[in-house]
Amino acid sequence: MATINKKIKTIKIDLDKCNGCRACEMICSSFHASPKYSSNNPARSRIRMVRDPLKDVYLPVYAGEYAPAECTGRSKYVIDGKEYNECDFCRASCPSRDAFKEPDSKLPLKCDMCEGEEEPLCVKWCITGALTCEEREEEAEEPVRSVELDTGLEDLVNKYGLQQLQDTLNRMSQAKKG
Ligand code: SF4
Ligand code: SF4
Repeated sequence: MATINKKIKTIKIDLDKCNGCRACEMICSSFHASPKYSSNNPARSRIRMVRDPLKDVYLPVYAGEYAPAECTGRSKYVIDGKEYNECDFCRASCPSRDAFKEPDSKLPLKCDMCEGEEEPLCVKWCITGALTCEEREEEAEEPVRSVELDTGLEDLVNKYGLQQLQDTLNRMSQAKKG
């Protein structure tokens, strides 16, 4: 099978640079509003700030996969003298909390890297440089192109006629069943 080079984007978070301004949440919710940029509501953002200014805790977390059941383990982490709950780092939309759920429909939210944009908008709007985007290329299998399939079928219809093609396909399908 033919391979293609796929571009993979990764967002790197530098906690030391985050000041908790929440510009990332604002622009993300605004970009995903319908119509686009018509409103902003951090509850609709695909990036969430875990903030505790008194303890100097500022942790940006990206929405990941949906989890149908909540997990049973709860650990605490102490990093650079700051305490975090395990759930603080979790990227899942799960039944145990409201994070990463569309507030009206309760449907799970997931970061889509601002599909269609050159650069993720949260990265662009993070003026402290806490969020940076890295891009690398990876080899992947080329997806089957339906356009080519359509063109191939069209050629066969032009060459043999629709009826003959249908008869042949019927025969092939009968032979497979038998
Ligand atoms: S925009 Fe940057 S500095 Fe502001 S809260 Fe988000 S990650 Fe932190
Ligand atoms: S990359 Fe785009 S979709 Fe993902 S959290 Fe940032 S602004 Fe939202």
